[in-house]
Amino acid sequence: MKNKPLRVTDLAWEFLRPMLNPGDIVVDATAGTGQDTVFLCQCVGETGRVFAFDIQAAALQQTKDNLEKSGYTDQVTLIHQSHDFMVPALKAAAVGEQAVKAIMFNLGYFPGGDQTITTQVETTMVALNGALSLLASGGLITICLYPGHPGGFEEAQAVIRWCETLEAPFVAHHFRTLNRKSPPTFVMIQRTR
Ligand code: SAM
Repeated sequence: MKNKPLRVTDLAWEFLRPMLNPGDIVVDATAGTGQDTVFLCQCVGETGRVFAFDIQAAALQQTKDNLEKSGYTDQVTLIHQSHDFMVPALKAAAVGEQAVKAIMFNLGYFPGGDQTITTQVETTMVALNGALSLLASGGLITICLYPGHPGGFEEAQAVIRWCETLEAPFVAHHFRTLNRKSPPTFVMIQRTR
């Protein structure tokens, strides 16, 4: 990372790595290639539980392949559903409110896939509201936002405006590269109690 610009995905990992522990329950709300899902498995270990959502079968297949290559399968549940079903899906897996230590959102499209299939404001906002109810005390929601693709700017604005309205026990932070045009930006929500 030393001689390369810091990416929003690096920021998510840097904040999550020190606060996750073996045995934690975590969610990847946008599995994509599976890199974040594998990262979460590394953080929570064999005793943890990782739930990963994606609406595209191709993304979940790539995630599955990457998990198998990395030796993680037992602690992961891949869910072929939109992340706005996160609360009922976790409830069905006996995971209740305030039980999830981290929830990652890496919005936008599947890298290498159809760029017209992207996360959408309406379902993203439902998912984020659900994520608040699942988040444990001391937990984090990370959100990578990509304003550079069609619909991405509107989605980023909606997420940022919503974050500005959050009340205690949530604290929302926004990180943005200042000297690039339409840079991806990073939002992180803490639950403080
Ligand atoms: N975290 C991923 C990784 O490590 O490679 C990258 C995620 S990629 C930028 C965004 C993903 O979100 C795509 O794979 C896309 O199919 C997925 N997606 C789009 N809408 C979704 C939704 N409503 N629910 C869950 N996933 C969605």
